[in-house]
Amino acid sequence: MADTTTGTTPLSATVATASAATFDVIVVGAGPAGSCAATVLARAGHRVALLERGAFPGAKNMYGGVIYPRILDRLHPQWWEQVPIQRWITRRSTMVMTETRALTIDFRSEAWGEPPYNGATAYRPDFDHWLADQAVAAGAHLLNATTAVGLLRDADQRIVGVRTDRPDGDLWASTVIACDGVNSFIAKEAGLHEELDPANYTLGVKETLALPRSVIEERFGVRDRHGVDIEILGGTSGVNGGGFLYTNLDTLAVGAVLKLPALAAQQTRPEEIIGRLKAHPAIAPLVEGGEIVEYSAHVIPEAGRSMMPTLTTDRLLVTGDAAAMCLAAGIWLEGVNFAMASGMAAGETVAEALASGDTSARGLGGYERRLRDSFVLADHDKLRRAPGLVLSDRVQHQYPEMITGVVERMFRVDNPEPKPGLRRILREERRAAGVRIRDLARDAWIGFRSFG
Ligand SMILES: Cc1cc2nc3c(=O)[nH]c(=O)nc-3n(C[C@H](O)[C@H](O)[C@H](O)COP(=O)(O)OP(=O)(O)OC[C@H]3O[C@@H](n4cnc5c(N)ncnc54)[C@H](O)[C@@H]3O)c2cc1C
Repeated sequence: MADTTTGTTPLSATVATASAATFDVIVVGAGPAGSCAATVLARAGHRVALLERGAFPGAKNMYGGVIYPRILDRLHPQWWEQVPIQRWITRRSTMVMTETRALTIDFRSEAWGEPPYNGATAYRPDFDHWLADQAVAAGAHLLNATTAVGLLRDADQRIVGVRTDRPDGDLWASTVIACDGVNSFIAKEAGLHEELDPANYTLGVKETLALPRSVIEERFGVRDRHGVDIEILGGTSGVNGGGFLYTNLDTLAVGAVLKLPALAAQQTRPEEIIGRLKAHPAIAPLVEGGEIVEYSAHVIPEAGRSMMPTLTTDRLLVTGDAAAMCLAAGIWLEGVNFAMASGMAAGETVAEALASGDTSARGLGGYERRLRDSFVLADHDKLRRAPGLVLSDRVQHQYPEMITGVVERMFRVDNPEPKPGLRRILREERRAAGVRIRDLARDAWIGFRSFG
């Protein structure tokens, strides 16, 4: 059942008796990871508390805008009949941009506009709310406006629950699942995260622009709730990162993901960077006239495998962004599906551990095994060098100059000069962009190993 009280209401008014404040599992955070973990456990018949600091799940959550829900096939078959989406992505473009040029690879698939679909744009307050409702329907106890502020430990220092910010707000359980997102306070308190390095993070900033539905469909060449996902390399005013532009029903999401140390060094305000991106000749006609209805920002754990904490300790597991499982690898920015998958794996593992009566780190060992057997760690392992490559100066600045320079020369007709030939263009544009063959070969090899 969902708690509809406010954060100042004593917990005893919600979970009626002291014994009712004792659960099998406490899940901290009702984002995609937490709601999936809670659903699995509640369906297995366990008493689950799902804590959310926001007024409702999704109230505080922001992201770019595209979810890949196929991971829900197991948990919610026919999910597409219920999930509150904006548009099904049927056009996916990758744009390489310099200040004056843009090269776009534009892919369209009508199959992605039919079940079981591929990706969709969705608003997080709608999506997270729906996902948490499924946990509640399965029997989880959702406590909104309730922030976990610490771990409860017994005399032997074993984790026995969480302390919340509600009056009389302690909750007990034999296992806690940290689904509290990037910079997980719970994982840090449990000693699982090492020293945080700002170089492992980007700042994601986004404007939501209102435009009539018919204008969006005409400009982006889509109909019938089909939508477009444009990922942009370059276009971030010299700050390493990337841009994006997504279509919702009657709004656009335009934004940038910016490497924190580079942003601090450049001292450019993120909204200026979005402003310049919107003014780029390749983007301006698409967003023209859009009225800013929201501006939001959030930190992204960007470094993937190399920044993941230890995933379990006695009586505690870490999932989703709390465990840096967001995949930010240039052409892919996927976090919600990784969070949902890790939440499901955590839920299954805890159900198994509760059945065997062993919730020690050893008893929870199945979690990492499940993640290894799924795309979560398989993709992160394969792509472990991709975030570093994608955010490197060469990929960010030199290669876009070189690639767009080559294409410009190929299509430029310099009569009466004859066509120069691709080899000569490549050589000259590589030199003009200051790219050394040795670096190019090394990056191509890392790229091939990562993406190939
Ligand atoms: C700008 C930007 C663009 C992105 N674009 C995409 C995209 O297009 N597609 C995609 O798949 N991913 C994208 N991501 C990544 C994605 O948003 C995350 O990977 C995903 O939300 C992680 O889910 P989660 O459940 O682990 O954490 P979150 O979604 O962060 O959820 C954590 C929840 O815990 C709650 N919480 C936190 N602390 C406490 C506490 N102490 N007590 C109680 N509750 C607490 C929060 O309120 C929140 O509801 C983007 C991220 C950003 C910032």
